[in-house]
Amino acid sequence: MIEARFYAAEGDGVRCLLCPHHCFIKEGRRGICRSRECREGKLWALSYGTPCAVADDPVEKKPLNHFMPGTRCLSLSCTGCNLSCRWCQNSDISQAAPENADRYVLSPEEAVDLCFRQGLPSIAYTYTEPFTWWEYMYDMAVLAHGRGLKNILVSAGYVEKEPLKVLLPYLDAANIDIKAMDDGFYRKWCGATLAPVLENIIEMKAAGIHVEITNLLVTGLNDSSGQVTALCEWMEDSGLQDVPLHLSRFFPRYRMTSPDPTPTATLLAARNIALSHGIRHVYLGNV
Ligand code: SF4
Ligand code: SF4
Repeated sequence: MIEARFYAAEGDGVRCLLCPHHCFIKEGRRGICRSRECREGKLWALSYGTPCAVADDPVEKKPLNHFMPGTRCLSLSCTGCNLSCRWCQNSDISQAAPENADRYVLSPEEAVDLCFRQGLPSIAYTYTEPFTWWEYMYDMAVLAHGRGLKNILVSAGYVEKEPLKVLLPYLDAANIDIKAMDDGFYRKWCGATLAPVLENIIEMKAAGIHVEITNLLVTGLNDSSGQVTALCEWMEDSGLQDVPLHLSRFFPRYRMTSPDPTPTATLLAARNIALSHGIRHVYLGNV
């Protein structure tokens, strides 16, 4: 573990300033993401250098369809997420504390070396929420850039402005998940809020990062034409028609064992809505 960045001492604990939850964490306790703990008046990033997943994936699996197509990336993940989506496909690691998962020991230097040994031109921070292991991601991203590798973020985008700003110079591409264009949906099903996610996407685009967006359409919850239209109107109004949009099919998982998978017809209808709003690259995922 390593001392965390982005926190402040407060009363008999610390206030984590990494994400909009702003957890107040008392001595010996952890934040919502289970990744950051207060010990002796300091905040610690618990999973530093101990990823629970290390894989070699095609970049299209992130999904990124317009960034270094045909290449593969070192895909890394530590435990932890600051959201709690009921259908999470990676809940065994996203909702786990570090000590409850099998982990490797892999320093940022070793991870970068591994890319060169395997001939991989990029590192993807993925599978859980990379911002909850910000320090490990950041150190690796700086080293990777210094040796000519690209950095890819796969995230729900729920982070504070400052940690994002510090990371941005080292990021090359990102796939950001928009759960729904509905704050109530975020609060009820994901334990987060919508506004910071949208603001952060705009911030990344303004910084010149290659961004793609994923929207998982959950049967009966966020797959109405009204919801899809709201997303596409926001993209249109924000000048994001060139941002590739991945409309992804829901499958029952984790705490959401129903409803049925999203009907293909619903996904095709959503794609037509997106195209009619001028979104130029619309892909269907999990089909
Ligand atoms: S990063 Fe974790 S500990 Fe920090 S505010 Fe977010 S959920 Fe809380
Ligand atoms: S944001 Fe992603 S990793 Fe986190 S709970 Fe939701 S689906 Fe799982």
